[in-house]
Amino acid sequence: MKESYLALKNTLPKNVTLLAVSKTKSQEEILELYNLNQKEFGENKVQELIEKQENLPKDIKWHMIGHLQANKVKYIAPFIHLIHSIDSLKLVDEINKQAEKNNRVIEGLLQIKIADEETKYGLSWEEALEIYTYCKTLNHVKIVGIMGMATNTQDQSKIKQEFAQLNKYFNTIKNEDVAIEILSMGMSHDYVLAINEGSNLIRLGSLLFGNRANN
Ligand SMILES: *Cc1c(COP(=O)(O)O)cnc(C)c1O
Repeated sequence: MKESYLALKNTLPKNVTLLAVSKTKSQEEILELYNLNQKEFGENKVQELIEKQENLPKDIKWHMIGHLQANKVKYIAPFIHLIHSIDSLKLVDEINKQAEKNNRVIEGLLQIKIADEETKYGLSWEEALEIYTYCKTLNHVKIVGIMGMATNTQDQSKIKQEFAQLNKYFNTIKNEDVAIEILSMGMSHDYVLAINEGSNLIRLGSLLFGNRANN
């Protein structure tokens, strides 16, 4: 893992943050990357996230990348670095409430649906704008960008088109708001395309850790 991680890091543009997606992976595997100075890790299940956060070094920045139920926000509010999966008004209200209890401002990304698959979570652009505007009235949630997942397909031109669309949305709000900095797009199989289309945060799991038995 060491050589492939370092080789990959070397190929990335300086402005691109590498998020190591450690879901289903052991604490030992996470520590192996941590010891190579990888400090940002992403998880998609609250229970797994809180167990790992408890047991692993406290300077790790934990990202929540999976669908988040409002009733579970309280468990991650004390420490979460960035929530990629903001997808409802109910969720932002709860994040705001729990962040206030912890005397924090929690940063988040609006998850926008760009793929044409039924199963993918995410907002339409219109819904995203509505939540974005609403968050401006809240003191403990700060929207700092957007996140999306392309369709799981071999069709490179389709993926490219979806990423380009997300980048267009990103620039629309970024041009009016200096707080908007993060465009989270690209996974193991499509991160090169994503970077070409303007991504500055890629979420890599299997490419770093090897294939998962399940998700
Ligand atoms: C699992 C997951 C990833 C990483 O997927 P890989 O294909 O293993 O790189 C990225 N983003 C989200 C939202 C995920 O759930």
